[in-house]
Amino acid sequence: MSSPTGRRMQTVMRPEKDGFLPAENPFEEMMSRFDDAAKRLGLEPGLYRILRMPEKQLIVAVPVLLDNGQVEVFTGFRVIYNTSRGPAKGGIRFDMQVTLDEVKALAGWMTWKCAVVNLPFGGSKGGVICDPSKMSNGEIERLTRRYTSGIMDTLGPDSDVPAPDVNTNERVMAWVMDTYSMQKRHTVTAVVTGKPIAMGGSLGRREATGRGCMFVTREALKKLGIPITGTRVAIQGFGNVGSVAADLMAKAGMTVVAVSDKSGGIYNPKGLDMADVFQHVMTEKFLSGYTKAETITNDQLLTLDCDVLLPAALENVITDENARDVKARILCEGANGPTTTEADEILNAKGVFVIPDILANAGGVTVSYFEWVQDRGGYFWDEETVNSRLEKIMVNAFGEVTAMAEHHKVDNRIGAYMLAIERVAAVHRLRGMYA
Ligand code: NAD
Repeated sequence: MSSPTGRRMQTVMRPEKDGFLPAENPFEEMMSRFDDAAKRLGLEPGLYRILRMPEKQLIVAVPVLLDNGQVEVFTGFRVIYNTSRGPAKGGIRFDMQVTLDEVKALAGWMTWKCAVVNLPFGGSKGGVICDPSKMSNGEIERLTRRYTSGIMDTLGPDSDVPAPDVNTNERVMAWVMDTYSMQKRHTVTAVVTGKPIAMGGSLGRREATGRGCMFVTREALKKLGIPITGTRVAIQGFGNVGSVAADLMAKAGMTVVAVSDKSGGIYNPKGLDMADVFQHVMTEKFLSGYTKAETITNDQLLTLDCDVLLPAALENVITDENARDVKARILCEGANGPTTTEADEILNAKGVFVIPDILANAGGVTVSYFEWVQDRGGYFWDEETVNSRLEKIMVNAFGEVTAMAEHHKVDNRIGAYMLAIERVAAVHRLRGMYA
């Protein structure tokens, strides 16, 4: 599988008097930001109650015949958070840490993210509690097909469109598409995005999230009057998002001073030779063992002397314990939920310009939207068209989020939530309430 990472939303532990308690419920964490933005917007109490509750929460048993002849029953979830603006859109993750609350939080995030970039989509998310690193390909295929069958009633190009997420990839999406199509008795490519290009995937999808991070960082630099050339960037996570962002930022003239993955980090204050770093990772798989730069830990990377910090690995890495030491002027949240609420306050007080996750990493879902449009139209665009349309959407969204934040004198995160909630609420008002 492509993403055997340890990304966890709930493994952060907080010291308490009597030992350790788990971090906040991820759904309530997301909702605390929603509440703040909704209050500032003066959202009507009825709409507030509607938008605080997912539309649908599905829990399915997923029986799978294992290679050893035994049957294991896994638990799968699919949460449709809101569909007022269009079909629900959201990935499927396979991970031992999946919980219903985590899936609800992620489905809510997708709703706000799609609205921030003004896509005609609602939000959803799915997951199965499993450890794909301990399963054979055949077992993963059977799990995927049975889970797809279990959530069949929610799926469809007009109702709910999955995509890859933690520990799922385009191979898994191909199985979801095939299972759905076999049950429908005809081929339905638009039921998933993030598919292989040979079966209806979009050019530029793989690079879209990192490319989007580069676009919004460039816009932030322009806004703050910082020249792009020589801007020092530190990136945590060297997977799909982090490695593409590093490559494109270096090509745009920025100086990538540090990168890391789960094996650790590397640092050169004068700038890393990115072509050489990519060559190392191609042969060695991980960054560890790279000898032409100083070795650093993932924690050290977050507080390095740099201009832009781009977390692109895990949730909850910038906390009240390290936020005071962050030296970057701009924080571009490539990962989902890398900053805790307490850290947000500290960063705001320090004047760090935060490009929040629901804006910064929306490039992926934007090109997923392009994929869905191309599948439905049966006409495929060249990569240049994909990238230039992505750029236009990201630049527009950046302008709208920062304008909202300035108008209401709030930080960019609350500005992004306000923009998103207002867009979703506007459609609810126009549609009225079905009774
Ligand atoms: P990925 O699996 O391709 O890469 C993750 C990277 O993080 C890897 O380099 C891995 O080694 C590293 N990592 C894992 N554990 C780590 C640890 N403990 N410390 C430091 N690094 C660690 O994943 P990705 O697709 O690049 O996603 C990264 C983040 O971006 C996630 O939060 C994901 O939800 C978010 N995101 C991804 C997309 C997308 O299109 N891929 C879209 C939106 C948001």
